Amino acid sequence: MVHNLSRVVAQDKHFLNIVNGRPVAALSQETITVLCPSDGLAFATIPAGDADDVDRAVRAAREAFDRGPWSRMPAFERGRLLTRLGQLIEQHGDELAALESRDTGKPIRQGRADVAAAIRYYEFYGGAADKIHGDTIPFLDGYTALTLREPHGVVAGIIPWNYPMQIMARVVGAALAMGNTLVIKPAEDASLSTIRIGELAIEAGLPDGVLNVITGYGREAGAALSAHPDVDYVTFTGSPATGTAIQQAAAANNRGVTMELGGKSPQIVFADADIEKALPVLVNAIIQNGGQTCSAGSRILIERPIYDEVAAALGERFDKLVAGPHDADLDLGAMINPAQKRRVEDYVASAAEAGIDVIARGSIDAQAPTTGYYVVPVLFGAVDPAAIIAQEEVFGPVLTLFAFDDEQEAIRLANHTDYGLVAGIWTRDGARQHRVAKRVRAGQVFVNAYGAGGGVELPFGGFKKSGHGREKGFEALYDMSATKTIIFRHD
Ligand code: NAP
Ligand code: MG
Repeated sequence: MVHNLSRVVAQDKHFLNIVNGRPVAALSQETITVLCPSDGLAFATIPAGDADDVDRAVRAAREAFDRGPWSRMPAFERGRLLTRLGQLIEQHGDELAALESRDTGKPIRQGRADVAAAIRYYEFYGGAADKIHGDTIPFLDGYTALTLREPHGVVAGIIPWNYPMQIMARVVGAALAMGNTLVIKPAEDASLSTIRIGELAIEAGLPDGVLNVITGYGREAGAALSAHPDVDYVTFTGSPATGTAIQQAAAANNRGVTMELGGKSPQIVFADADIEKALPVLVNAIIQNGGQTCSAGSRILIERPIYDEVAAALGERFDKLVAGPHDADLDLGAMINPAQKRRVEDYVASAAEAGIDVIARGSIDAQAPTTGYYVVPVLFGAVDPAAIIAQEEVFGPVLTLFAFDDEQEAIRLANHTDYGLVAGIWTRDGARQHRVAKRVRAGQVFVNAYGAGGGVELPFGGFKKSGHGREKGFEALYDMSATKTIIFRHD
């Protein structure tokens, strides 16, 4: 198999930002070179936006919010424009899937899945825009009290490189449905789909300044955006450390935030589980997107009587996993950048050095360019729950197995990290399903299933270090709005 990655060089493109409905370069004219993780080669540039570019975009968003039609437009009309954007994404689906997969190194089928999820977000929030409303509240005689859900104003969205198209869609969908305007800053390693969808938003007819895209380094553009005094609300998905920095910046202006900060999500497999059904799901939950998934199922807790059987079956599957170029569409692609590759390899090396048992390793496709950022998937067994590899988010294809003796211990181990994003429970016992689901500290709990991805209608977010606030579903519309209470006296 020959992976024809060189042809892409002919399509080199200089992408621009979107400010006030127009494509623009950075004010400094500086650019950042875009590399494809599959071969490490340059194929595009993006603007290196800085504080001046952020300021220009925030001013455009402010103007659009304060004086434009957006926040006063009937909600169903805002919804129609979001739905129209989703339709344009569908029409450009092949192009967007190819762009996302080349920019991030993810297998092309994952790029297609990301397009499908993005379309669903725009459909969902397009349809939801006119279906969210306030309450009337019984109050004193001679009074009527009611609530309105009002937009915050200018929202800043700072998004990561793992699922840019999906995460952009959940931010844009919820923020714009509620009548906010938005400045979005994608990660410098994966900005292309955000820019392209920003262009499609102009075509869809979004008013100028409603959706602005600024690319650049996090420490420059991201920091300037989260600290900007005219930003009313910040939503962020990424690492806990950057989340802390962004919250501190927003706190200086006393602005609200939504934080989605990753996880170390457990799946609990009880002895009565349907193992054949569970196995492919357990593997996919850590291999999808090369494990660079906030909701990756990176810990598997197995009831002791079936531990050896499940560990062996997972080992067989891990042995066969192959990493390779995005267009070869293998089990997993490359890591996003050399730093992420190093990070994963360092975690694996130190766990192996600490004596943790390596049950199985996958491989890298022999045809894969040696300049790509590939890592080998690794399955660790009988892991000490206190070990670093059991506690920290690796963000790579590294799965850890643990044995437990009873339900109490399973719950204790499941909750035994600083994180609390997603959990999986595999058992046929209905009462146990309910008991364990309630006691696991996680924002989403799957029973006999796993996969936070596509469910755009399902509220999503963390407990503990995984963050706060909720995205997706109707819940995101609450985060993206503030309640105003109006009290009428008419005695
Ligand atoms: P990160 O620093 O959290 O980056 C996420 C976003 O924040 C990017 O757009 C980034 O821009 C921006 N950013 C960085 N520093 C900023 C600052 N001081 N102020 C405002 N914005 C800033 O993540 P990373 O460094 O790329 O990845 C490191 C680790 O974070 C990963 O290994 C993984 O463990 C975790 N992570 C988690 C998620 C998740 O979905 N929960 C996603 C990504 C990473 P630039 O990228 O342009 O600098
Ligand atoms: Mg890239």
